[in-house]
Amino acid sequence: MRRKIIAGNWKMNKDIRETATLINELKERLKDFKNEVDIVLCPPFPSLVVAKSLIKDTPMKLGAQNMSQHDEGAFTGEVSAKMLTSIGCEYVILGHSERRQYFKETDEIVNAKVKKALKTRFTPIVCIGETLEEREAGITDRIITTQIKGVLHELSSTDVEKIIIAYEPVWAIGTGKYATPDQANQVHRLIRKLVGQHYSCPVAETLIIQYGGSVNSQNAYALLSQPEIDGALVGGASLTSDAFMRIIQACVEASIPNHS
Ligand code: PEP
Repeated sequence: MRRKIIAGNWKMNKDIRETATLINELKERLKDFKNEVDIVLCPPFPSLVVAKSLIKDTPMKLGAQNMSQHDEGAFTGEVSAKMLTSIGCEYVILGHSERRQYFKETDEIVNAKVKKALKTRFTPIVCIGETLEEREAGITDRIITTQIKGVLHELSSTDVEKIIIAYEPVWAIGTGKYATPDQANQVHRLIRKLVGQHYSCPVAETLIIQYGGSVNSQNAYALLSQPEIDGALVGGASLTSDAFMRIIQACVEASIPNHS
């Protein structure tokens, strides 16, 4: 059985003081948590060190929101895998649609970052998803197929076993619109089929595929109880402990067999 995972992408929100407040609130609320699902927090770079010390001895793990594909050198403003490892990050979000849109990251760049992340023993959370125009043009499947081929280029089965895919329809990110559980489940099934064709059925069956795009406390359970949806990448609703905890709780409930 695939273990579900909820990751909070804080984007460019929360300074160090606000980071501490949010994590302390989550710690308090997670007191009775029984580790039924994985929880990852992805604060901005300046908060990572503080976040790491605050989540010690809690079920929460640390992730970064981006990472360079280069080892070191003259890349002003970039952050390397080695730097993130030294902080204790275990996850890294790669290819988020905001990185693709505002910073021109292509599937090729994302693929280079995935390779670097795997070499450095990170779990990459690799984002893919179609735009509204692409969905309306009826080419979602084609776009997803191209992105999967691009981001997984030259990866072995062993590599693919270590990654998480986040299906994030661009039209649903930060917009309040979300894919219906059925729409999301269909795309997740396609992703699993593609991975099964390129690699093998066992690799596809163990692949964790998160959904992301306006997940909130109201829609989380319906999305997370879909058979192909193994968790959520949460933006806006990860910024308050109340909203994030409700999503974690929905995920726990969705993980219980035959729960309704
Ligand atoms: C995201 O940033 O990955 C995301 C899904 O954002 P939101 O939940 O705010 O749509």
